[in-house]
Amino acid sequence: MLIDNHGRKINYLRLAVTDRCNLRCFYCMPEDGLNWLSRAELMTYEEMLRSCSLMVNMGIEKIRITGGEPFVRKDIMKFLTALSKLNGLNELSLTTNGVVTAPHVPELKRIGVKSVNLSLDTLDANRFFAITRRDEFSKVMETLEQLLKHDIEVKINAVVMDGKNTQDIIPLVEMTKDMPVSVRFIEEMPFNGDGHLYSGINWDHVRILEEIKDQYPAIKKLIDPAYSTSYNYQIPGHQGSIGIIAAYSRTFCGTCNRIRVTPQGELKNCLYDNGVLNIRDIIRSGATDDDLKQSLLKVFSQREKNGWEAERNRIEKTGIHESMATIGG
Ligand code: SAM
Ligand code: SF4
Repeated sequence: MLIDNHGRKINYLRLAVTDRCNLRCFYCMPEDGLNWLSRAELMTYEEMLRSCSLMVNMGIEKIRITGGEPFVRKDIMKFLTALSKLNGLNELSLTTNGVVTAPHVPELKRIGVKSVNLSLDTLDANRFFAITRRDEFSKVMETLEQLLKHDIEVKINAVVMDGKNTQDIIPLVEMTKDMPVSVRFIEEMPFNGDGHLYSGINWDHVRILEEIKDQYPAIKKLIDPAYSTSYNYQIPGHQGSIGIIAAYSRTFCGTCNRIRVTPQGELKNCLYDNGVLNIRDIIRSGATDDDLKQSLLKVFSQREKNGWEAERNRIEKTGIHESMATIGG
Protein backbone atom coordinates (compact mmCIF):
# COMPACT_ATOMS: atom_id res chain seq x y z
CA MET A 1 0.00 0.00 0.00
CA LEU A 2 1.27 3.50 -0.85
CA ILE A 3 0.90 6.11 1.88
CA ASP A 4 2.12 9.68 1.46
CA ASN A 5 3.76 12.00 3.98
CA HIS A 6 0.31 13.22 5.13
CA GLY A 7 -1.01 9.71 5.80
CA ARG A 8 -3.11 9.65 2.63
CA LYS A 9 -3.43 6.46 0.64
CA ILE A 10 -2.35 6.74 -3.02
CA ASN A 11 -4.17 4.16 -5.14
CA TYR A 12 -5.40 6.05 -8.20
CA LEU A 13 -3.40 7.05 -11.29
CA ARG A 14 -4.69 9.31 -14.03
CA LEU A 15 -2.64 8.92 -17.18
CA ALA A 16 -2.91 11.39 -20.06
CA VAL A 17 -1.87 9.60 -23.26
CA THR A 18 -1.78 12.60 -25.60
CA ASP A 19 -2.16 16.38 -25.52
CA ARG A 20 -3.85 16.41 -28.95
CA CYS A 21 -7.55 16.88 -29.31
CA ASN A 22 -10.33 17.07 -31.89
CA LEU A 23 -12.15 19.80 -29.92
CA ARG A 24 -10.94 23.23 -28.83
CA CYS A 25 -12.87 23.79 -25.60
CA PHE A 26 -12.79 27.42 -24.52
CA TYR A 27 -11.83 26.56 -20.93
CA CYS A 28 -9.06 24.13 -21.95
CA MET A 29 -7.07 25.58 -24.84
CA PRO A 30 -6.83 28.49 -27.30
CA GLU A 31 -8.78 28.37 -30.56
CA ASP A 32 -5.57 27.63 -32.50
CA GLY A 33 -4.78 24.67 -30.28
CA LEU A 34 -1.52 24.12 -28.43
CA ASN A 35 2.10 23.78 -29.32
CA TRP A 36 1.58 20.01 -29.65
CA LEU A 37 4.16 17.63 -28.26
CA SER A 38 6.30 15.82 -30.82
CA ARG A 39 6.15 12.05 -31.04
CA ALA A 40 9.61 11.81 -29.41
CA GLU A 41 8.41 13.84 -26.44
CA LEU A 42 5.42 11.57 -25.83
CA MET A 43 5.80 8.50 -23.65
CA THR A 44 5.59 5.43 -25.87
CA TYR A 45 2.94 2.81 -25.09
CA GLU A 46 5.73 0.49 -23.90
CA GLU A 47 6.97 3.15 -21.47
CA MET A 48 3.46 3.81 -20.22
CA LEU A 49 2.73 0.12 -19.77
CA ARG A 50 5.96 -0.43 -17.86
CA SER A 51 5.27 2.54 -15.56
CA CYS A 52 1.67 1.46 -14.98
CA SER A 53 2.68 -2.12 -14.26
CA LEU A 54 5.26 -0.95 -11.72
CA MET A 55 2.84 1.43 -10.05
CA VAL A 56 0.15 -1.26 -9.86
CA ASN A 57 2.70 -3.47 -8.09
CA MET A 58 3.38 -0.59 -5.71
CA GLY A 59 -0.29 -0.12 -4.77
CA ILE A 60 -2.17 1.65 -7.57
CA GLU A 61 -5.57 -0.04 -7.93
CA LYS A 62 -7.35 2.21 -10.38
CA ILE A 63 -6.13 3.82 -13.62
CA ARG A 64 -8.02 6.44 -15.61
CA ILE A 65 -6.91 7.12 -19.18
CA THR A 66 -7.38 10.67 -20.32
CA GLY A 67 -5.70 13.31 -22.48
CA GLY A 68 -6.06 15.46 -24.67
CA GLU A 69 -8.53 13.19 -26.32
CA PRO A 70 -7.40 9.59 -25.75
CA PHE A 71 -9.16 8.29 -28.86
CA VAL A 72 -7.14 10.48 -31.23
CA ARG A 73 -3.96 8.62 -30.31
CA LYS A 74 -3.26 5.83 -32.80
CA ASP A 75 -3.69 2.28 -31.51
CA ILE A 76 -5.27 3.41 -28.25
CA MET A 77 -7.47 0.30 -28.11
CA LYS A 78 -4.40 -1.98 -28.25
CA PHE A 79 -2.92 -0.06 -25.33
CA LEU A 80 -6.15 -0.19 -23.34
CA THR A 81 -6.44 -3.91 -23.96
CA ALA A 82 -2.88 -4.49 -22.67
CA LEU A 83 -3.56 -2.30 -19.65
CA SER A 84 -6.78 -4.14 -18.84
CA LYS A 85 -4.74 -7.33 -18.39
CA LEU A 86 -2.44 -5.93 -15.68
CA ASN A 87 -2.53 -8.16 -12.60
CA GLY A 88 -3.69 -6.24 -9.55
CA LEU A 89 -5.48 -3.48 -11.46
CA ASN A 90 -9.04 -3.39 -10.11
CA GLU A 91 -10.46 -0.66 -12.28
CA LEU A 92 -9.67 0.79 -15.69
CA SER A 93 -11.72 3.81 -16.67
CA LEU A 94 -11.43 6.71 -19.07
CA THR A 95 -12.41 10.27 -19.77
CA THR A 96 -13.39 11.21 -23.31
CA ASN A 97 -15.10 13.99 -25.21
CA GLY A 98 -17.08 11.34 -27.09
CA VAL A 99 -16.44 12.68 -30.61
CA VAL A 100 -14.92 9.49 -32.05
CA THR A 101 -15.64 7.13 -29.14
CA ALA A 102 -18.94 5.50 -30.14
CA PRO A 103 -17.48 2.80 -32.45
CA HIS A 104 -15.11 1.67 -29.67
CA VAL A 105 -17.79 1.18 -27.02
CA PRO A 106 -18.44 -2.56 -27.61
CA GLU A 107 -14.69 -3.22 -27.36
CA LEU A 108 -14.42 -1.11 -24.20
CA LYS A 109 -17.14 -3.25 -22.68
CA ARG A 110 -15.36 -6.42 -23.77
CA ILE A 111 -12.07 -5.47 -22.10
CA GLY A 112 -13.86 -4.69 -18.85
CA VAL A 113 -14.20 -0.89 -18.78
CA LYS A 114 -17.08 -0.35 -16.35
CA SER A 115 -17.22 3.41 -16.19
CA VAL A 116 -16.59 6.28 -18.61
CA ASN A 117 -16.54 10.00 -17.91
CA LEU A 118 -18.05 11.81 -20.88
CA SER A 119 -17.52 15.56 -21.20
CA LEU A 120 -20.67 17.43 -22.13
CA ASP A 121 -21.14 21.03 -21.04
CA THR A 122 -24.45 21.76 -22.75
CA LEU A 123 -27.44 20.05 -24.36
CA ASP A 124 -27.75 22.80 -26.95
CA ALA A 125 -25.92 22.18 -30.25
CA ASN A 126 -25.23 25.89 -30.84
CA ARG A 127 -23.78 26.38 -27.39
CA PHE A 128 -21.77 23.18 -27.84
CA PHE A 129 -20.23 24.78 -30.93
CA ALA A 130 -19.58 28.05 -29.10
CA ILE A 131 -17.80 26.24 -26.24
CA THR A 132 -15.88 23.56 -28.15
CA ARG A 133 -15.46 25.47 -31.46
CA ARG A 134 -16.39 22.29 -33.32
CA ASP A 135 -19.72 21.07 -34.66
CA GLU A 136 -19.68 17.58 -33.10
CA PHE A 137 -22.62 17.59 -30.69
CA SER A 138 -24.48 14.74 -32.38
CA LYS A 139 -21.44 12.43 -32.22
CA VAL A 140 -21.11 12.99 -28.48
CA MET A 141 -24.79 12.14 -28.01
CA GLU A 142 -24.28 9.00 -30.07
CA THR A 143 -21.46 7.97 -27.72
CA LEU A 144 -23.72 8.57 -24.73
CA GLU A 145 -26.36 6.33 -26.30
CA GLN A 146 -23.82 3.57 -27.01
CA LEU A 147 -22.40 3.68 -23.49
CA LEU A 148 -25.85 3.35 -21.92
CA LYS A 149 -26.81 0.63 -24.37
CA HIS A 150 -23.72 -1.36 -23.36
CA ASP A 151 -24.41 -0.88 -19.69
CA ILE A 152 -21.26 1.13 -19.04
CA GLU A 153 -21.62 3.53 -16.11
CA VAL A 154 -21.60 7.11 -17.37
CA LYS A 155 -20.51 10.21 -15.53
CA ILE A 156 -21.12 13.40 -17.45
CA ASN A 157 -18.56 16.14 -16.80
CA ALA A 158 -19.86 19.67 -17.28
CA VAL A 159 -17.61 22.65 -16.59
CA VAL A 160 -19.73 25.57 -15.39
CA MET A 161 -18.76 28.87 -17.01
CA ASP A 162 -20.26 32.25 -16.34
CA GLY A 163 -21.85 33.64 -19.51
CA LYS A 164 -21.37 30.38 -21.43
CA ASN A 165 -23.54 27.57 -20.11
CA THR A 166 -25.14 28.34 -16.75
CA GLN A 167 -28.52 28.06 -18.49
CA ASP A 168 -27.63 24.39 -19.05
CA ILE A 169 -27.39 23.50 -15.38
CA ILE A 170 -31.08 22.63 -15.01
CA PRO A 171 -31.44 20.81 -18.38
CA LEU A 172 -28.37 18.73 -17.49
CA VAL A 173 -29.90 17.94 -14.07
CA GLU A 174 -33.09 16.91 -15.88
CA MET A 175 -31.14 14.24 -17.76
CA THR A 176 -30.91 12.34 -14.48
CA LYS A 177 -34.69 11.89 -14.45
CA ASP A 178 -34.82 9.07 -16.99
CA MET A 179 -31.15 8.20 -17.49
CA PRO A 180 -28.95 6.32 -15.01
CA VAL A 181 -26.15 8.88 -15.35
CA SER A 182 -24.26 10.95 -12.83
CA VAL A 183 -24.07 14.56 -14.02
CA ARG A 184 -21.12 16.29 -12.40
CA PHE A 185 -20.73 20.04 -12.42
CA ILE A 186 -17.11 21.17 -12.25
CA GLU A 187 -15.81 24.57 -11.21
CA GLU A 188 -13.73 26.10 -13.98
CA MET A 189 -9.98 25.95 -13.26
CA PRO A 190 -7.18 28.16 -14.63
CA PHE A 191 -5.69 25.48 -16.92
CA ASN A 192 -6.66 26.92 -20.31
CA GLY A 193 -3.25 27.17 -21.98
CA ASP A 194 -3.72 30.96 -21.78
CA GLY A 195 -6.66 30.68 -24.16
CA HIS A 196 -8.33 33.39 -22.11
CA LEU A 197 -7.64 35.47 -19.06
CA TYR A 198 -8.65 33.61 -15.90
CA SER A 199 -9.48 35.68 -12.88
CA GLY A 200 -11.26 33.27 -10.54
CA ILE A 201 -14.84 32.01 -10.80
CA ASN A 202 -18.30 33.45 -10.35
CA TRP A 203 -19.86 29.99 -10.18
CA ASP A 204 -18.39 28.02 -7.32
CA HIS A 205 -19.80 24.80 -5.85
CA VAL A 206 -22.05 26.71 -3.44
CA ARG A 207 -23.66 28.78 -6.19
CA ILE A 208 -24.12 25.77 -8.45
CA LEU A 209 -25.96 23.92 -5.67
CA GLU A 210 -28.14 26.97 -4.95
CA GLU A 211 -29.13 27.13 -8.62
CA ILE A 212 -30.20 23.47 -8.54
CA LYS A 213 -31.96 23.81 -5.15
CA ASP A 214 -34.01 26.74 -6.47
CA GLN A 215 -35.54 24.45 -9.07
CA TYR A 216 -35.49 21.25 -6.99
CA PRO A 217 -35.94 22.12 -3.31
CA ALA A 218 -36.44 18.42 -2.49
CA ILE A 219 -32.90 17.54 -3.65
CA LYS A 220 -31.29 15.02 -1.27
CA LYS A 221 -27.66 14.74 -0.21
CA LEU A 222 -26.19 11.29 -0.86
CA ILE A 223 -23.38 9.73 1.16
CA ASP A 224 -20.19 10.55 -0.73
CA PRO A 225 -18.03 7.50 -1.51
CA ALA A 226 -14.58 7.39 0.11
CA TYR A 227 -12.06 9.60 -1.76
CA SER A 228 -14.87 11.23 -3.72
CA THR A 229 -14.01 14.63 -5.17
CA SER A 230 -17.69 15.39 -5.70
CA TYR A 231 -20.50 16.31 -3.35
CA ASN A 232 -23.27 13.99 -4.45
CA TYR A 233 -27.02 14.54 -4.59
CA GLN A 234 -30.16 13.05 -6.04
CA ILE A 235 -33.55 14.41 -6.94
CA PRO A 236 -36.16 12.07 -5.41
CA GLY A 237 -37.63 9.86 -8.13
CA HIS A 238 -34.76 10.44 -10.57
CA GLN A 239 -32.74 7.48 -11.84
CA GLY A 240 -29.43 9.26 -11.99
CA SER A 241 -27.52 11.47 -9.57
CA ILE A 242 -25.75 14.81 -9.46
CA GLY A 243 -22.22 15.63 -8.38
CA ILE A 244 -20.62 18.99 -7.74
CA ILE A 245 -16.84 19.17 -7.93
CA ALA A 246 -15.11 22.04 -6.14
CA ALA A 247 -12.09 21.76 -8.42
CA TYR A 248 -11.04 25.38 -7.99
CA SER A 249 -12.14 25.77 -4.35
CA ARG A 250 -10.19 22.59 -3.55
CA THR A 251 -12.22 21.26 -0.64
CA PHE A 252 -11.18 17.63 -1.14
CA CYS A 253 -7.38 17.66 -0.76
CA GLY A 254 -7.46 16.08 2.72
CA THR A 255 -8.34 12.67 1.24
CA CYS A 256 -6.52 12.99 -2.09
CA ASN A 257 -5.63 9.49 -3.30
CA ARG A 258 -4.60 10.38 -6.84
CA ILE A 259 -1.50 11.07 -8.85
CA ARG A 260 -1.22 12.12 -12.48
CA VAL A 261 1.17 11.38 -15.33
CA THR A 262 1.23 13.75 -18.29
CA PRO A 263 1.72 12.70 -21.93
CA GLN A 264 5.43 13.59 -21.66
CA GLY A 265 5.84 11.44 -18.55
CA GLU A 266 5.79 14.16 -15.91
CA LEU A 267 4.46 12.86 -12.61
CA LYS A 268 2.19 15.26 -10.74
CA ASN A 269 1.52 14.75 -7.06
CA CYS A 270 -1.19 17.40 -7.33
CA LEU A 271 -3.21 18.87 -10.19
CA TYR A 272 -1.82 22.25 -9.22
CA ASP A 273 1.91 21.39 -9.03
CA ASN A 274 4.00 21.63 -12.16
CA GLY A 275 5.51 18.20 -12.08
CA VAL A 276 7.75 16.51 -9.55
CA LEU A 277 9.51 13.77 -11.53
CA ASN A 278 9.90 12.87 -15.20
CA ILE A 279 9.25 9.14 -15.54
CA ARG A 280 10.00 9.13 -19.27
CA ASP A 281 13.46 10.61 -18.74
CA ILE A 282 14.23 8.15 -15.96
CA ILE A 283 13.20 5.21 -18.16
CA ARG A 284 15.17 6.57 -21.12
CA SER A 285 18.27 6.94 -18.95
CA GLY A 286 18.30 3.14 -18.64
CA ALA A 287 16.95 2.93 -15.08
CA THR A 288 15.86 -0.41 -13.66
CA ASP A 289 12.37 -0.88 -12.24
CA ASP A 290 13.86 -0.67 -8.78
CA ASP A 291 15.54 2.71 -9.59
CA LEU A 292 12.22 4.02 -10.83
CA LYS A 293 10.41 2.66 -7.79
CA GLN A 294 12.85 4.40 -5.42
CA SER A 295 12.42 7.72 -7.29
CA LEU A 296 8.64 7.37 -7.07
CA LEU A 297 8.71 6.53 -3.36
CA LYS A 298 10.83 9.62 -2.75
CA VAL A 299 8.38 12.01 -4.41
CA PHE A 300 5.39 10.31 -2.77
CA SER A 301 7.01 11.14 0.58
CA GLN A 302 7.16 14.82 -0.37
CA ARG A 303 3.59 15.51 -1.45
CA GLU A 304 2.23 18.94 -0.77
CA LYS A 305 -0.57 19.15 1.77
CA ASN A 306 -3.13 20.62 -0.61
CA GLY A 307 -3.69 22.29 -3.95
CA TRP A 308 -3.22 25.77 -2.50
CA GLU A 309 0.24 24.91 -1.23
CA ALA A 310 1.08 23.25 -4.57
CA GLU A 311 -0.11 26.31 -6.49
CA ARG A 312 1.84 28.69 -4.23
CA ASN A 313 5.02 26.75 -4.80
CA ARG A 314 4.37 26.67 -8.50
CA ILE A 315 3.54 30.35 -8.88
CA GLU A 316 6.91 31.25 -7.35
CA LYS A 317 8.33 29.60 -10.46
CA THR A 318 6.30 30.14 -13.64
CA GLY A 319 2.61 30.71 -12.88
CA ILE A 320 -0.14 28.67 -14.57
CA HIS A 321 -0.01 28.65 -18.38
CA GLU A 322 -0.74 24.98 -18.82
CA SER A 323 -3.72 23.53 -20.66
CA MET A 324 -5.80 20.81 -19.02
CA ALA A 325 -5.06 18.82 -22.19
CA THR A 326 -1.48 18.35 -20.97
CA ILE A 327 -2.65 17.31 -17.51
CA GLY A 328 -5.69 15.16 -18.18
CA GLY A 329 -8.17 16.74 -15.78
N1 SAM B 1 -10.61 15.22 -23.92
C1 SAM B 1 -11.21 14.46 -22.89
C2 SAM B 1 -12.46 15.12 -22.39
O1 SAM B 1 -12.65 16.31 -22.64
O2 SAM B 1 -13.23 14.44 -21.73
C3 SAM B 1 -10.28 14.14 -21.73
C4 SAM B 1 -9.34 15.23 -21.30
S1 SAM B 1 -10.10 16.66 -20.58
C5 SAM B 1 -8.70 17.67 -20.26
C6 SAM B 1 -10.58 16.03 -19.00
C7 SAM B 1 -11.62 16.84 -18.27
O3 SAM B 1 -11.05 18.09 -17.90
C8 SAM B 1 -12.86 17.17 -19.10
O4 SAM B 1 -14.01 16.72 -18.44
C9 SAM B 1 -12.85 18.68 -19.19
O5 SAM B 1 -14.14 19.20 -19.17
C10 SAM B 1 -12.06 19.07 -17.96
N2 SAM B 1 -11.44 20.38 -18.09
C11 SAM B 1 -10.65 20.84 -19.07
N3 SAM B 1 -10.24 22.10 -18.83
C12 SAM B 1 -10.80 22.46 -17.66
C13 SAM B 1 -10.77 23.65 -16.88
N4 SAM B 1 -10.08 24.72 -17.25
N5 SAM B 1 -11.47 23.66 -15.73
C14 SAM B 1 -12.18 22.57 -15.32
N6 SAM B 1 -12.24 21.42 -16.01
C15 SAM B 1 -11.56 21.36 -17.17
FE1 SF4 C 1 -10.12 18.54 -25.82
FE2 SF4 C 1 -11.00 17.59 -23.50
FE3 SF4 C 1 -9.60 19.88 -23.64
FE4 SF4 C 1 -12.03 19.84 -24.63
S1 SF4 C 1 -11.49 19.48 -22.47
S2 SF4 C 1 -10.21 20.71 -25.64
S3 SF4 C 1 -12.19 17.82 -25.39
S4 SF4 C 1 -8.85 17.89 -24.09
